[in-house]
Amino acid sequence: MATFIVLLGPPGVGKGTQAKIMAEETGLVHISSGDLFRENIKGQTELGKLAQTYIGRGELVPDNLTIAMIRERLARPDCKAGAILDGFPRTTTQADALEKMLGEFNGKVNKVPYITASEKVLVERLSGRWTCRANGHVYHDKLNPPKQATVCDLDGSELYQRDDDKSDTVVRRIQVYLEQTAPLITYYRGRGNLIEINGTQNIRDVTKSLLSALKK
Ligand code: ADP
Ligand code: ADP
Repeated sequence: MATFIVLLGPPGVGKGTQAKIMAEETGLVHISSGDLFRENIKGQTELGKLAQTYIGRGELVPDNLTIAMIRERLARPDCKAGAILDGFPRTTTQADALEKMLGEFNGKVNKVPYITASEKVLVERLSGRWTCRANGHVYHDKLNPPKQATVCDLDGSELYQRDDDKSDTVVRRIQVYLEQTAPLITYYRGRGNLIEINGTQNIRDVTKSLLSALKK
């Protein structure tokens, strides 16, 4: 049976950073809903044009568009063994849809690591985040700097600051998380697959906590 891991936690807590490391460690594919939207925006697809209006304001893209995009991604052959989901689901409607679609793909959500940090830490991390244009690798100008400023260590592409990492949008995204995504903590706790992880540790220690929690 396939293994699906849902990474839960507020914007900036380190989901993308950890998802990339865990994908290497486990061999599962990393699926980031935010990266998929940004690829659509870059490619100027219809979905990208629609999504951009929401993302720019720090609001969630409507459930129907998001669910359709993830359904299409999960149907691809590289997800046969499972996936690490980063940024999806973000609402209970999305979580219900995920449960249904994984049933069709002979899978289920196995574990939900919930990574936590204070709002102060989130704002500090988001405001210093630099993202790579080619593959979405992330850095932090102080906490996790690249070897050479504005160049990705891994693929040499240019690093940029996301528009939605600017201060007013960051505050709105955290508020949206608390209103619309935080209910998933209770949702998954109730299903018995939530594992709390202290996200204020350094990157390596968060990875250690995650990997040991996944083995249990
Ligand atoms: P998310 O996907 O949850 O929004 P990211 O993985 O993009 O979060 O991380 C947000 C920012 O914080 C990035 O700049 C990243 O380099 C930095 N970061 C991630 N994890 C840690 C950590 N444990 N300690 C310090 N900085 C971190
Ligand atoms: P972060 O982890 O820093 O919050 P993401 O890259 O995951 O950022 O998401 C960026 C933006 O893309 C979100 O603020 C939201 O507008 C949109 N988005 C990503 N995933 C979803 C989702 N599952 N549902 C609705 N909107 C989403």
